[in-house]
Amino acid sequence: MHDSLLRRTFLAVSYPVLIAAELKGLLEADQLATLDVTWLPADQEIPKGDWVAIVPLLSRWVGGTQLKHLPNLRIVANCAVGYDNVDVVAAEMRKVIVTNTPDVLTDATADLTWTLILACARRLVEAIDLVRSGRWDGWHPELLLGVELRGRTLGLFGAGRIGQAVGRRAVPFGLRIIYAARTAKPDFERDTGAVRVDWTRLLAESDILSLHAPSTPETKGIVNGDALRCLKAGAILVNTARGDLIREEALAIALEEGRLGAAGLDVYADEPAIHPRLRAAPRTVLLPHIGSATHDTRRKMAAIAVANVQAVLKGEPPLTPVFR
Ligand code: NAP
Repeated sequence: MHDSLLRRTFLAVSYPVLIAAELKGLLEADQLATLDVTWLPADQEIPKGDWVAIVPLLSRWVGGTQLKHLPNLRIVANCAVGYDNVDVVAAEMRKVIVTNTPDVLTDATADLTWTLILACARRLVEAIDLVRSGRWDGWHPELLLGVELRGRTLGLFGAGRIGQAVGRRAVPFGLRIIYAARTAKPDFERDTGAVRVDWTRLLAESDILSLHAPSTPETKGIVNGDALRCLKAGAILVNTARGDLIREEALAIALEEGRLGAAGLDVYADEPAIHPRLRAAPRTVLLPHIGSATHDTRRKMAAIAVANVQAVLKGEPPLTPVFR
């Protein structure tokens, strides 16, 4: 009797939610308590229905049409820090809360950014290819010479959580740091000696330009042909932010013409497609969007996304709303 009462009570507060099926292995049963989960695979459209929450991957567009199909929706808990896959204006109009997963992925993404910086500077892909090909014929004083980092300038476009974490890691490498952001970062400047500059100076002075701003109408396509022509000859471009910050064909041309030293990319404008000219361009390190891909971080991201759902459904404020 007692059990059945408990069961009825449990069922009474069982909220219907949609969660990306790909997150199943990262979540524990207790995190899903009170949730009646429908697991939604990435290749399936969002169904029409009474779901009160959705936890999508960053690859799923959640726009006005999708929101219209979910009239009872109270929260979109995006499993990423970027939320350019969600129409936040449409959500706001429907009084749907949007949350993301900041902070927990900062270190993993900053580490991967450094993986790309070092791989570009020291020509890692060419070196691995040479060894694998069997054509390496021994030590040579001029074999695969790269770029010495000490004394060079690292330019950060965007100096929020990840941009600053990348900058802080640059200090022991002996790099000078400049950054462009909408607001000054006095603590970051004090700790690292970083200097805030405008976009024009950032392009002109960076030996390595690393992108850490979100995809917005202001930043989309900001690294276009003109911007690339303003970079120093031989500069390295790294992008672990969002692919559409860069015009990929213009980047491919800059690499083909030898104007750019190298490009290290984790993200692309039309994932998983990569502009064919960019895929074929020389001196690239191309990764499949793995900035936050560590066991610890991916578990934490899934946990925060679901914790946001639990909070909102309990009538509490979300933990990490995209707008405060
Ligand atoms: P964040 O803390 O919000 O930092 C974003 C930075 O961009 C801020 O410094 C912001 O300036 C700056 N910014 C925004 N608009 C700008 C503009 N128009 N001009 C100049 N600066 C601008 O975000 P985060 O946590 O560091 O993440 C950054 C981005 O990385 C995310 O949006 C996401 O897309 C991407 N990301 C990718 C991966 C991956 O797997 N590759 C993983 C995590 C994140 P203010 O500080 O002045 O506002």
